Amino acid sequence: MDALLGALRGIVGDGHVLTGGDLGAWERDWRGRARGKALAVVRPACTQEVADVVRATAAYVQQHPDCGIGIVPQGGNTGLVLGSTPDESGTMLVLSLRRMQAVRNVDATNLSMTVDAGCIIDTLHECTSAQGLWLPLSLAAEASCTVGGVLSTNAGGTRVLRFGTARDFCLGLEVVTATGEVWDGLRGLRKDNTGYDLRQLFIGSEGTLGIVTAATLRLYPAPKACWVAWADVPDMASALGLLERARYSLGDALTAFELMDRSALDLVRKHRPALRVPLYPSGAYAVLLEYCATDAGMRAPLEDTLAAAMQQGCATDAVLAENARQSRAFWQVREAIPEAQAQEGPSVKHDVSLPLGAMSSFLDATAAALCAAIPGVRVLHFGHLGDGNLHYNVFPPEHVDGRAFVRDEEERINDLVFAQVTAHGGAIAAEHGIGSLRARRLAQVEPPVAMAMMHAIKKALDPTNLLNPGRVLLHSVQNPCMEKRPCLP
Ligand SMILES: Cc1cc2nc3c(=O)[nH]c(=O)nc-3n(C[C@H](O)[C@H](O)[C@H](O)COP(=O)(O)OP(=O)(O)OC[C@H]3O[C@@H](n4cnc5c(N)ncnc54)[C@H](O)[C@@H]3O)c2cc1C
Repeated sequence: MDALLGALRGIVGDGHVLTGGDLGAWERDWRGRARGKALAVVRPACTQEVADVVRATAAYVQQHPDCGIGIVPQGGNTGLVLGSTPDESGTMLVLSLRRMQAVRNVDATNLSMTVDAGCIIDTLHECTSAQGLWLPLSLAAEASCTVGGVLSTNAGGTRVLRFGTARDFCLGLEVVTATGEVWDGLRGLRKDNTGYDLRQLFIGSEGTLGIVTAATLRLYPAPKACWVAWADVPDMASALGLLERARYSLGDALTAFELMDRSALDLVRKHRPALRVPLYPSGAYAVLLEYCATDAGMRAPLEDTLAAAMQQGCATDAVLAENARQSRAFWQVREAIPEAQAQEGPSVKHDVSLPLGAMSSFLDATAAALCAAIPGVRVLHFGHLGDGNLHYNVFPPEHVDGRAFVRDEEERINDLVFAQVTAHGGAIAAEHGIGSLRARRLAQVEPPVAMAMMHAIKKALDPTNLLNPGRVLLHSVQNPCMEKRPCLP
């Protein structure tokens, strides 16, 4: 392995192959759930260096087929499914893209920008808004997550309702393949039916098929104004009623519809007391609505929608942010939920999506099943209701140790929750992906024909299972190389 590390130092420079010191920032996942051990952290500065690193590693693996070396691409390391950190084998190279931060070009006519994979989403917001343009990709991790990570997980976030997931923002990709070749697919065209759409294969593949080194992203003209409202909503049926009303009356100007249950807001109040919850729910939920219009003066449609919803009984009360600072404050409460949960302690988490029509029945049936199985469990849910996406998390009963609870009950809870998701026609992974956390589940819930196609794609693009082994797909009789790569628990 020393020979390989020497070759990598020759490519990226001595200072960018890290083997000693505290590598925790690269080896530990955001939730602190697992810490792996990397053979090294390699930090290339450009696409050519990524390609050279992959080629050198692939050559080494070919000569030493039992070395177990794999490459784990990493961006901001904010992923939530154990996909971006190494396993415990000490044979994984973490390939950090964070040094690749160039904005290659912003094209106001084509409404697009081409950027390196390591660019942080927030910095792109600053860059575009300075030019009257808008990248409406928005998620609570945007101050840390990168373009490469967001595309490789097909991240969603808060504006999927209007603009779609990361996939819908991507007009082109540059990818380093498992053999170290560079595919330049950065044409940035809105129409391109030239053969198979390779770009779509790499998006959402979580670093298992190729390494994203750059992307062309779709931009929009900046809206003239965005208003944010907070509504107090008695129950799920009312939340869905409000969503339907808002969709029909506001059309495309409705850009976000976020649901928070009382338990989620209780945690924000407990762990982030400096934040003020605009309206503490008198019923089961609060909803945050965002309305972005092309006419700066027009907030009346949002006011009318809320007034009509209150008349109908879909909302008991509502408040409109008066200015940008207040809008930001409303959003901060919503965005504080993941951190507040982390501070509360371990829980069993799920990121699921459901048909809207099945939402109430799913919630009732799942809560009943959980409470019957483990009396006293505390369920919390919040999420992007406009997309049918819930973050459904199960905390231990009061005074039960969280770590022991997760260790002892996680599998049983997952079985119960995912059984209900499947029974209600939903998906067990909505926007966070599969990683190694859900790889075994994927194989259980997807039909054999779908798994066979996924394995065939993996085998075609990465026959030696070099890229992010043990993530998304576990192992395969069709691909014996996979047997050698262990997966995080
Ligand atoms: C507080 C918080 C809030 C979040 N909110 C949301 C949300 O609302 N919606 C949502 O969808 N997600 C959310 N996430 C999850 C996470 O932010 C996203 O998955 C994000 O896309 C990960 O980006 P990253 O740069 O941190 O990628 P990483 O965590 O570094 O990597 C994620 C995956 O992508 C792969 N990868 C990374 N870079 C590349 C590359 N250049 N080429 C190939 N593969 C690569 C990794 O190997 C890994 O499998 C949240 C996370 C946190 C911590």
